[in-house]
Amino acid sequence: MESKKKDIRALTKEQLRAFFVSNGDKAFRGNQVYEWLWSKGAHQFEAMTNISKETRRLLEDAFVINHIRVDQMQRSSDGTIKNAVRLHDGLTVESVLIPTPTRTTACVSSQVGCSLDCKFCATAQLKRMRNLNPDEIYDQVVAIDNESRLYHNRPLSNIVFMGMGEPLMNYNNVLKAIEMITSDEGLGMSPKRIIVSTSGIPKMIKKLADDEVRFGLAVSLHTAINELRAEIMPFSKKFPLEELRESLEYWYAKTGSRITYEYVVWKGINDRKEDIEALVRFCGYVPCKVNLIEYNPIDDGQFQQASSQATDNYVDALEKRGFVVNVRRSRGKDIDAACGQLANKSV
Ligand code: SAH
Repeated sequence: MESKKKDIRALTKEQLRAFFVSNGDKAFRGNQVYEWLWSKGAHQFEAMTNISKETRRLLEDAFVINHIRVDQMQRSSDGTIKNAVRLHDGLTVESVLIPTPTRTTACVSSQVGCSLDCKFCATAQLKRMRNLNPDEIYDQVVAIDNESRLYHNRPLSNIVFMGMGEPLMNYNNVLKAIEMITSDEGLGMSPKRIIVSTSGIPKMIKKLADDEVRFGLAVSLHTAINELRAEIMPFSKKFPLEELRESLEYWYAKTGSRITYEYVVWKGINDRKEDIEALVRFCGYVPCKVNLIEYNPIDDGQFQQASSQATDNYVDALEKRGFVVNVRRSRGKDIDAACGQLANKSV
């Protein structure tokens, strides 16, 4: 049964300090408890050994410590690990650990399901149930950091918000989670090692720029032609490419950080000459690089990976114009952990 008590990690440090003061204790007690909750990852008040029994009882009566549980862990033949993560209210999300020879990347979810409707994405077929709280995002990162140390003998090095959900539709909680991930009171990771991926919500991209965030931004572009984008990502009708472009120019002017475009080339959909030309033109607007990602089939065949010739045509055209382009191979396909495959299938 869900507890009526408040999740203590929803409190800021200031609020926690104020709680102790209003209960006749020192504000400093708030700092101690905060440290237990975040950098020490305590799941129980009992574990807080430098806090008196009486104070622990006070906390117990007022709060709960919600935390995630990794219900199931699947390991791919390529070293990728997928976690099915159970939340305090019984809902589930997935997160993925992606190892390469030089880094370990955590791919984390920001929402349960997704409210967007990208036709090629498995997560879009789950309706959005709710936003994740900051601690639920943070805990996914901690779980993957632990797995990285255990199975790959090194700490986590990078984080991408490319799991389930649209991070910019859960803006405040994603930013709070990143604040804790990068803070010395949390995991102390560099924001330069974090990328938030969006399907392209112009207003929120501008807000990121105004908030002077220091992490990277990726945009799931997939086509630089409005009519086609409206077909394969229907929500984007509300946000034409001109508006997206303007928000990205604004982002770059404020942050000086170049954008990563994610792009899948599909057979008979965006593999024509005019598709390539449109992307080349779009890349000219804001400093960027392009990741051509492999398609992971999720449906009955409406979308199919284009030929390697089509991908080569993109690479040639982009490189000829001096743009950086990477061709990314999928990881963790055998356990449905690759881009666009996260759909809580195992639970
Ligand atoms: N909503 C955000 C975060 C999800 S990131 C966003 O759209 O950016 C997941 C990435 O995988 C996005 O770039 C998405 O477009 C891509 N993707 C979705 N379905 C895919 C599939 N079946 N195969 C390959 N990539 C896919």
